[in-house]
Amino acid sequence: MNIDFDNSYARLPEKFYSNVKPTPVKSPNIIKLNNILADELGIKFDNMQPEIFFSGNSLFSGSQPIAMAYAGHQFGNWVPQLGDGRAILLGEILDKKGLRRDIQLKGCGPTPFSRMGDGRAWLGPILREYILSEAMENLGIPTTRALTAISTGEKVYREKEFPGAILTRVAFSHIRVGTFQYFASRKDLDGLKTLADYVINRHYKNCIKDNNPYLRLLKKVIKRQANLVSKWMGVGFIHGVLNTDNTSIFGETIDYGPCAFMDEYQFNKVFSSIDQTGRYAYKNQPAIIKWNLACLASCLLPLISENEKKAINLAQSAVDEFDDIYNSLWLKIFRNKLGFRKINEDDEKLIKNLLDLMDKNKTDFTLTFRSISSLINNDDDNFKKYFMSHNNEWIDKWRNRISKEDNDKKDIFKFINTINPAFIPRNHRIEEIISKALEGDYSYFEILNKVLLKPYDDQDEYKEYQKPPQENQIVTETFCGT
Ligand code: AMP
Ligand code: MG
Repeated sequence: MNIDFDNSYARLPEKFYSNVKPTPVKSPNIIKLNNILADELGIKFDNMQPEIFFSGNSLFSGSQPIAMAYAGHQFGNWVPQLGDGRAILLGEILDKKGLRRDIQLKGCGPTPFSRMGDGRAWLGPILREYILSEAMENLGIPTTRALTAISTGEKVYREKEFPGAILTRVAFSHIRVGTFQYFASRKDLDGLKTLADYVINRHYKNCIKDNNPYLRLLKKVIKRQANLVSKWMGVGFIHGVLNTDNTSIFGETIDYGPCAFMDEYQFNKVFSSIDQTGRYAYKNQPAIIKWNLACLASCLLPLISENEKKAINLAQSAVDEFDDIYNSLWLKIFRNKLGFRKINEDDEKLIKNLLDLMDKNKTDFTLTFRSISSLINNDDDNFKKYFMSHNNEWIDKWRNRISKEDNDKKDIFKFINTINPAFIPRNHRIEEIISKALEGDYSYFEILNKVLLKPYDDQDEYKEYQKPPQENQIVTETFCGT
């Protein structure tokens, strides 16, 4: 049995990528196969030796492996050439719904874009990405997925020696803002147009009919990214490396490096050890995404209009729309988090009021919102217990506001619990699964993965996993850990 590949990206001109095969590894072994995703993709693991193929030791027939070329702004600094340095796109397949999905191996050996890197990944980041990306999916947030995790039987050297691993990442595509920057910065108008047409054809077919397809494309990406970042804000997720090369054109969460879900709410929270200035802090994420979209806009200028001034005006006003689009999405999410489906002009004030209280009291982001459902049942203490200072006034205002909703209590209770998760991939749990896995015990990984399949269900048997870290378990810093 084989996977039916159809490699449209590899049919683009050769300047888009480099042909390169994965470097075989010593003794590949299965860590995890994602049967749910495999089923969605129409892949049957039973009929193959997954560890041979998903380590890159053997190539599926029909696969045409490539490393994609891209550039990007890293922490605001321009890097004219990045590209897949430790990932290889095996090809694309059509899933059961007929949607095109990229199948990529991450950590499968060097490519012409590796620069000084070894093209490999160690076990820790692979398990992190597996858990986080699948949790993101189950939270209902657009994301790349994890199909397999394979150990390589080889060592990877970072500060010290670690076991190597390879992740199979599945994405609607791996095209980034940085892919556009790659061609735009080279003044390769031909390449730029080919890329834009490819993206429209693959992701945004409706743009074709528009009298300015490339402006429409820009507007579509702006909407997708505004949607994505508003959803991150709604679950307290901090990406950590929002470089333009980690900003997907399709609008999925991509590149799980030093990212983290907040425990205690802090508006200006930063986890990443490499983010010294807090550029990618929780509060800055919408503005940074807008900055990245402005980079995309500037790439698209020559396609939007031959008249540069006109192009700039059109692109600028498209980017300017980001704030309104984002703000209304953000408001809807947080309104829903409080149980409101109707619109009231004081809602924003009420939401910000709560967030301020949470920030001051350093309450757990996830549990505070989850416990709002207790207010419905008049179990106020279950909500109040997270706050040190007085919040009765806020509760009164909230109660007054919820009384204006049409739905009955039971319905609102249910609704809130489908918006506010009970479980998130907490940092201390991720640290735990990695350190246990390094001792050869994958059971912690398995359980965490299982719990996060249903983040909105109470799952009383896993109550422990709802809990924030104890003092000695708090993770204050996350590492890129490539
Ligand atoms: P990232 O931090 O994953 O967004 O990666 C930024 C750039 O560094 C990309 O071009 C990666 O392909 C490259 N890179 C990261 N880690 C490695 C590695 N171990 N070997 C080769 N290239 C890498
Ligand atoms: Mg990246």
